[in-house]
Amino acid sequence: MSDRHGERPTAVPNMDRRSVAAGASDAHVVAVDLGGTWARAALFDPSGAVIRRARVGTDRDGGPARIVEQLATLIDEVAGRRSGTEVTPSVAVVGVPGVVNPDSGVVYSAANLADWRNVPLRRMLEERMALPCMVEHDAALAALAEYRRGAGRGCVNFAYVTVSTGIGAGLILNNQLYRGQQGTAGEFGHMVSIPNGPLCHCGNRGCLNAIASGDGIAAAAGAERAEDVAAAAAAGDVESCRVLIWAAHHLGLALGGLINLLALDAVALGGGVFAAGDLFWDTLSAAIAEGSWATPRAHCQIMHAELLDDAGLVGAYELAADALVGYEAQPHD
Ligand SMILES: [Zn+2]
Repeated sequence: MSDRHGERPTAVPNMDRRSVAAGASDAHVVAVDLGGTWARAALFDPSGAVIRRARVGTDRDGGPARIVEQLATLIDEVAGRRSGTEVTPSVAVVGVPGVVNPDSGVVYSAANLADWRNVPLRRMLEERMALPCMVEHDAALAALAEYRRGAGRGCVNFAYVTVSTGIGAGLILNNQLYRGQQGTAGEFGHMVSIPNGPLCHCGNRGCLNAIASGDGIAAAAGAERAEDVAAAAAAGDVESCRVLIWAAHHLGLALGGLINLLALDAVALGGGVFAAGDLFWDTLSAAIAEGSWATPRAHCQIMHAELLDDAGLVGAYELAADALVGYEAQPHD
């Protein structure tokens, strides 16, 4: 696996247009990243810089109403309503770890959050906050962030794939975030790799997510966590090595298919599973080659994602900035 950051074009074609428009509107933006473990928020100033942050442990079993309260408290905190240094944000953008319709603001499902079925999150937040809100899939926001400010700078067609507890992906096609019907595009982890294979959280069998995610790797090895499997493999445990090879092989074949299908400029890989060591990477690299044609593969850079924990927040800001450009362009009554 080569990490070819040095060859990447450095132009950031979308930054100027966005910065100028956001600056003209003097808009502050609240970005929120609702994760299964932490809910994090940041206040961005009109130049796109973070000026305040806050986080809280997500009450994942508390249900939608409880989590909306947590998010409202976070938004108040970064907006300074609790410290007397108040800024009035123009919009709050929330990244959600689930299947989201960004047009309606409804979260269809979120596997790591209890009782999240068809939750009208945008409406609930707007009623609670009296603030325009947007809701988006967290992997889509991370893809947008990497494309604008991270590994995907200068790309036209780009995918971000994260493999941690679960597998997520976001697509940028022809310089646009690609959402597909109902906004549910990018479910790379739920392509079936092994017919009648291991049961996936989604209810289907043999999804890539059930094989190559952190949860899938841990389950296959009978371990608590994927990190434990990687450590055992590094220490020479044969069964752990076998599980890692199995996961990396299926992940690589799927990435090869993604490259064939979309002829991407680059794929950025993020998430803790990619820290699993040389055995994982070598297997992954060979499987990508096995699963893709030479020409699209030769033109697709495989790289590490750059923004790490901040990808969701930066992507939320970028989405808001785009929307604010849209507002600026609209004639007012
Ligand atoms: Zn699945």
